[in-house]
Formats: sequence, structure tokens, C-alpha cells
Amino acid sequence: MKLITQCPDCQHELKIKSLFIENRLDLAKENGKEFELRCPHCQGRFRVHVDDVVAENDLTVPIIGGISFIAAVFLTLYFLEMGFIAYATLALPVIAAGSARQNQRNRINQFNQLHYDSKRFRIR
Ligand SMILES: [Zn+2]
Repeated sequence: MKLITQCPDCQHELKIKSLFIENRLDLAKENGKEFELRCPHCQGRFRVHVDDVVAENDLTVPIIGGISFIAAVFLTLYFLEMGFIAYATLALPVIAAGSARQNQRNRINQFNQLHYDSKRFRIR
């Protein structure tokens, strides 16, 4: 999961540090409910409200899929002499990437659904 917002001047997408942040309340605790950012694209400074930050997919799922695919190939080769059962390891990347995707989707939904200030006018 990555957290992004948009520069109001040039629409450049800015990534926000999101380690250990699971929702907008965490983000507000860490940075304040409004915090200042500098756009690396147009150098403009602007203030962002935590409700204007959205969560999106990052590369976690493809990376987990790739690593577990390589692991599965090695495990299959290792167990190959045991016969057909060796091919069970080929399900590993499917299961690993599938559960990572599910987990990430849940975290993204949870972040995007919980607004810090629900009465505030919303642009998105
Ligand atoms: Zn900008």
C-alpha cells in the first residue's frame, strides 16, 4: 500500500511516507491533520488535509508473487524425485500472491473509507 496525494498546481502525484500508517487517524497523529508538502515537480509548497490523501496499490504484490514463484521453482526441482507431489509447490506463488493481494486490498479499502473529518467538503 502506498499513500499519495496530488499537487494542486501541476497535478503531479506525490508519495507520502506511510510506514506503520494504516489509516487517516494514524496519518493525522504522525503529521497533523493538515501538513505542508513541497512538490518536487514544480517546487510549489501546499498544505494537504489527511482526507485528501488516498491509498493505492504499490509493488508489494508483484514482488511477493515474483519471489514466491522463484521459491516454488526451486522447491519443485528439489522435490522432483518424489513424483507428482512435487508439483504441489507450484501452487505456492498463487496462494502467496493471492493472499498478499487480498490483504493489500483490505488495507487500501480501510484507509480510503475512514475519513478523518467526515463533515468536510470532499473533492474526490
Ligand atoms: Zn506541483
